[in-house]
Amino acid sequence: MADEVRRWRGDMEAYYIYTAGVAGDRFLREIRDNGRLMGTYCPRCDVIYLPPRIYCETCFSELNEWEEVPNKGVIDAITVAYVNDKGERLPQPLVWALVRFPGARGGLVHFVSLPEEDVREGMEVEVVYRRTGRREAAITDILYFKPV
Ligand SMILES: [Zn+2]
Repeated sequence: MADEVRRWRGDMEAYYIYTAGVAGDRFLREIRDNGRLMGTYCPRCDVIYLPPRIYCETCFSELNEWEEVPNKGVIDAITVAYVNDKGERLPQPLVWALVRFPGARGGLVHFVSLPEEDVREGMEVEVVYRRTGRREAAITDILYFKPV
């Protein structure tokens, strides 16, 4: 019976590190060291994955071939944030976009450097990287997308 269930209140300490993984690690290092987007290629399916994967999600082949993906893509979806991750109102709304890149399966989500009224789906944008020497192999090495 439900009233026989014991319970207690308390805090459960949890600490963890989320790693980028084998493919994600190289993806981030390519951005840091070479300022370029690299995906993995499945020759069997003729598909480039971006972000890269180490296995093809269609044929399950291990992927060892890397292909550079152009820095320019197209906005596929948009969302606008009015509060930060603590629920505090932002001084100005932040526009986030899912950008897909020609010839690649997948996409990247990041800020767009425009006010929300100027952003639309189908808009061509390019990646703006943090300047060389300031990059740290993190997704924040990409500063934002800007219109082409
Ligand atoms: Zn495949």
